[in-house]
Amino acid sequence: MSSSSQQPLEHDDNEEFDVIVVGAGFAGMYLLHRLRGMGLSARVYETGASVGGTWYWNRYPGARCDAESLAYSYSFSRELEDEWNWSERYATQPEILRYAERVAAKFDLKRDIRFERRVTRAHFDDASGRWTVETDRGDRASARFCVMATGCLSVPQVPQIAGLEDFAGPTYWTSKWPHDGVDFAGRRVGIIGTGSSAIQAIPVIAAQAKHLTVFQRTPNFSVPACNAPLDPKFVDAFKANYPGHRQNHRLGMGAGFGDLTVEPHPGGPAIETAAGRSEKEVRELLEKYWRIGGAHFIGAIADTMMNPDTNRIVADFVRGKIRATVKDPATADALCPTSHPIGTKRICVDTDYYETFNRANVKLVDIRKNPIDRVDATGLRLQNGERHDFDALVLATGFDAMTGALLKIDVRGAGGRSLRDAWATGPRTYLGIGVAGFPNLFTITGPGSPSVLSNMLVSIEQHVDWTVACIDYMRKNGYRRIEAQQASQDQWVGHVNEVADATLFPQGGSWYLGANIPGKPRVFMPYAAGVGVYREIADRVAANGYEGFAFAR
Ligand code: NAP
Repeated sequence: MSSSSQQPLEHDDNEEFDVIVVGAGFAGMYLLHRLRGMGLSARVYETGASVGGTWYWNRYPGARCDAESLAYSYSFSRELEDEWNWSERYATQPEILRYAERVAAKFDLKRDIRFERRVTRAHFDDASGRWTVETDRGDRASARFCVMATGCLSVPQVPQIAGLEDFAGPTYWTSKWPHDGVDFAGRRVGIIGTGSSAIQAIPVIAAQAKHLTVFQRTPNFSVPACNAPLDPKFVDAFKANYPGHRQNHRLGMGAGFGDLTVEPHPGGPAIETAAGRSEKEVRELLEKYWRIGGAHFIGAIADTMMNPDTNRIVADFVRGKIRATVKDPATADALCPTSHPIGTKRICVDTDYYETFNRANVKLVDIRKNPIDRVDATGLRLQNGERHDFDALVLATGFDAMTGALLKIDVRGAGGRSLRDAWATGPRTYLGIGVAGFPNLFTITGPGSPSVLSNMLVSIEQHVDWTVACIDYMRKNGYRRIEAQQASQDQWVGHVNEVADATLFPQGGSWYLGANIPGKPRVFMPYAAGVGVYREIADRVAANGYEGFAFAR
């Protein structure tokens, strides 16, 4: 472990708090800071040995954020903004983790966090109106409120591939990468998966390994990051108007990923639709966004995620880029996504991904065409009998997203009802933050909120601010219990579905829908109307005395 908390494993023995927080990633850290500021006592439980959440675990080579660093950072402290300097447009995982550690030190967070323990149970007691939380290390504590800051992509998906355990060499998960790093020099490596994690890792592993075989089931659309060191003069100018930029990030989905691009970029779409524009004009626009780099590309034309015709134009443009980059036509063909509209699976942001397939030491294997039969001691065999041998195997096979971490815990609400039962046909929340039947429970960036469709830091800060304001409201009004009303929840779930159905998103067969997990109910989990619209609704609900929630004294 590279960054252990060095804490002795003390236990909580029936201790009492105002709030228990599960997770010490960016959500849990900020929440702890805010709760303390309100004079509330809080305990945070965290599985990792230190803070940082996803950035603590995902240490694979090439890991970096796909939102721009100046936007993917806390906005709550001007002092922190002033003193921290990001070195690149897109921060690397080690730099983000250093930032998390810096925040923990600056706000003295670790003294209220218990590391290296997993919360196993969280039960609400009707009589006392309190949550009792237990961990796998024997902690037991209770609190009036329980806040799940468990992250949307924190439970790795174990792929159903026969023989995985038979492989004699080392197997590395991108989401549980060894803290001391891995040296692939001179080794033959196989990687399964071509999502965001793999697309970042592949160019870096290819540059180091003797040979890399990429096993691809579904090709993904990826746009160049156009990453570069940040010019300190530019950063100074940006910081001079940090509040203005932060406001952009809070209101706009595109701007949420960053508005510091090389050209003036308001964060909004350049045009509403491709219809009625000349092919040349649209192409030039897409070319411009391609050169700017990053996830903005998908927002260049406003109706890309709504209009199949626009989407096809954008997708064709990217397929053209792939074919122009990858020299071997068969490999280029296999890398071109055709099974889903662009953007309906999370758009990937890369550095030299497609170029990597021009290297002599890299081979792409299409396992959609020729599925894996089984892994064995020295590699794997495809169903058509073809063999691929390697010395190390990397699994970049994704996560049980959005609900995985919540449902891993035995959460029981009023009357002992389990969350697993309540969500048996898919997650149901009010605003993504409250669940009917689960009083005094808040889910930060939960299903039904924009979360994974947005810059997570922006959505985390919003949900944390909303939660602490709600707790403060309860305190001021003498309420001890809050619960999402069933009717409000039903209405919200209907609205989330309606919004998703008006887009192309449900056609993606992605983890947004739970489609990557065999047997998981297919429900489009994030709220797709954008962070600006969502913020307006959440603020209105709060201003109207948290309408849709029921309170009791
Ligand atoms: P992912 O997007 O779910 O990709 C998983 C990959 O593994 C897919 O290519 C999938 O193929 C493949 N796979 C899964 N099970 C398989 C099986 N049994 N056999 C063969 N292939 C299999 O996971 P991810 O790459 O870890 O990314 C998840 C999310 O994390 C991203 O979408 C993004 O939101 C976030 N993330 C962000 C960053 C960043 O900020 N830069 C970096 C990494 C991740 P199919 O598509 O066919 O299922």
